[in-house]
Amino acid sequence: MGKRWPCKATAERLLNESKSRVTELKNKGIEPHLAVVLVGDNPASKVYVSNKVKTCESLGIRSTFHKLEATTSTDDLLRIVDELNHDASVHGILVQLPLPPQIDESRIISGIEPDKDVDGFHPVNVGRLSLGEPGLVPCTPMGVMALLADCGAELSGMHAVVVGRSNIVGKPMAQLLLKANCTVSIIHSRTKNPAELCRQADLVVAAVGRPGLVDASWIKEGALVVDVGINEITDDALAEKLIPADSKKMAAYRKNGRVLYGDVHYASALGRAEMVTPVPGGVGKLTIAQLMANCVLAAERLGSR
Ligand code: NDP
Repeated sequence: MGKRWPCKATAERLLNESKSRVTELKNKGIEPHLAVVLVGDNPASKVYVSNKVKTCESLGIRSTFHKLEATTSTDDLLRIVDELNHDASVHGILVQLPLPPQIDESRIISGIEPDKDVDGFHPVNVGRLSLGEPGLVPCTPMGVMALLADCGAELSGMHAVVVGRSNIVGKPMAQLLLKANCTVSIIHSRTKNPAELCRQADLVVAAVGRPGLVDASWIKEGALVVDVGINEITDDALAEKLIPADSKKMAAYRKNGRVLYGDVHYASALGRAEMVTPVPGGVGKLTIAQLMANCVLAAERLGSR
């Protein structure tokens, strides 16, 4: 029977480390400063942004919040990003994604000064990660690496399967695991026999956006399973298929008509895996903790220039 990963403890470790580094920076006269830009009124984005701002406050990182109309154009947003690029008091710039459809997301990401790109999505940072050079690395995969380190996972020589190949999670996750000497396979929507390939993995990282896709039939006995997915379930039939009838999660679903669920079929995976991260309360906590670490790192590097 699998165990839950200690995601909360790793997130707390990352936050405590950032807090000490913030104190050291302030002793040198540098106040780490994150500028957060939100365009429009996407409810999920508002929650994410508010959590990020609150976490900054709790660590002593200054945050400024730039709320823009949903009708903002690419050029207007680029102008704001450029002002932040040139503001020496700002060390980190985060433009909350997704952006409204009229905005060219890739132009915005490329418009951020790479050394202030705390999300690690700028092509320069993508290149640095691929070359193994120091840069800013996307927060979710970095958070997963911190968790694996805390669990003492012997990554060297492991076969790791990453399910999903997005620029923000799957690809950087695969790069980091490769750097840690794993043999890495990537599964995507065109992969033939994905369950069969995934069953060969010692470590599975699922980042697909398909609730419960990775079930016990995808998992080797004793594998480590990290569930990045965050999906909202609002459908009774799907809830009944994925969530045990007598669980607290099902009680929450019956009460609220909605529940968050990962890409891993949690109950069945627990029966085969050594460990499975929970959703919620798993990788999400690591992502925000790692974002704070990226802000501090950016302030340390820019502040010492
Ligand atoms: P994307 O939609 O950008 O990418 C999904 C990937 O999954 C694609 O590469 C796609 O393949 C692949 N895929 C889709 N369906 C299948 C399938 N049936 N079989 C195999 N592969 C498939 O998603 P993200 O990477 O942005 O996010 C993934 C999940 O992680 C989401 O649930 C998201 O909410 C969550 N997330 C959680 C975070 C956290 O902090 N915990 C942070 C970021 C994301 P293809 O490329 O071929 O289309």
